[in-house]
Amino acid sequence: ITKTDNPISQQKVKVVCRVRPFLPHEFPDDTVGVDGNSIKITNQRNPTEILKYSFNACYGPTTAQTELFNNDVYPLLDHVLKGLNATIFAYGVTGSGKTHTMQGSQEHPGIIPRTLRRLFEIKNTSINRIDIKVSYMEIYKENVYDLLVPRDSITGLAIREDMNRNIFVANLTEKEINSYAEFEKVYSAACKHRSTAATKLNVHSSRSHAILCIYVTCRDDARGTTLFGKINLIDLAGSEDNRRTENGKERLVESAAINKSLFALGQVVEALSQGSSRIPYRDSKMTRILQDSLGGRSLSMIIINISPGQAFYTDTYNTLNFATRTK
Ligand code: ADP
Ligand code: MG
Repeated sequence: ITKTDNPISQQKVKVVCRVRPFLPHEFPDDTVGVDGNSIKITNQRNPTEILKYSFNACYGPTTAQTELFNNDVYPLLDHVLKGLNATIFAYGVTGSGKTHTMQGSQEHPGIIPRTLRRLFEIKNTSINRIDIKVSYMEIYKENVYDLLVPRDSITGLAIREDMNRNIFVANLTEKEINSYAEFEKVYSAACKHRSTAATKLNVHSSRSHAILCIYVTCRDDARGTTLFGKINLIDLAGSEDNRRTENGKERLVESAAINKSLFALGQVVEALSQGSSRIPYRDSKMTRILQDSLGGRSLSMIIINISPGQAFYTDTYNTLNFATRTK
């Protein structure tokens, strides 16, 4: 399929913005405002200058998890069932709502639980045979770790290329999942593996990228076809510039790795948006791993998470400028 006869391939990476509400201990000011598909930010030091950024969609602090899911995620699942790949990233500084958006809480489940619930609903009502498998990995300081098993080494997994030039993570566990309840068990065990590993290393899990891959195989016996689709749900490492606030060699090495991979992601998305013929997937582990799910016939979306308030003005400004480069 060439670029011109497939409308999907011409779609740019979708960028949506979500502003979280003020938390109980925060002072509610009017630094950030949502206006249709745009966000406006004001620096109290220079209140007459208002910066405005537009997105495919912009969600204010009262947006429910359901709304975001129904508008922007639900439609992607159709593509996955048709054998296409999709990727959703949550980008933003620590505390901006990435984990709330991707994972959520028991009362306000986010994209991950909603996606799996929906996929099992489809599986259980479809006339086709649908199989669901997951893998879950973490990238910390450019090392790839399997989260479905307890961590037994600090070396990390290797990225390889097969004979068909497909990129894969060697020895990464892929687990078949038969029900939503089974997913919950596997996922919560994996989250424990993640936090245990982080505690051992004395780092916070917000310093690593977490990539959940859901592989969907759809067999249509009547037609004799089998379609393989995949959706990646990614809670990125905090995008804050730690060089400003933290020192210590370890934290600097960490920050360098985070900055490098977020920068590489930005470069890939920018190249895709510009229709460039050379996409720099090889510049980071994450973009290499996601090569078959970013660009081409895949659908991707970045959710830009924003903390309201003047205290986060510089972070918000940096985040919005990252987002603007990728449009
Ligand atoms: P991050 O993962 O980006 O570090 P979190 O998702 O942990 O940020 O969010 C930080 C805090 O803000 C958490 O207490 C979370 O529950 C709360 N929060 C974030 N987004 C929302 C939202 N849309 N509605 C309500 N609370 C939110
Ligand atoms: Mg988080």
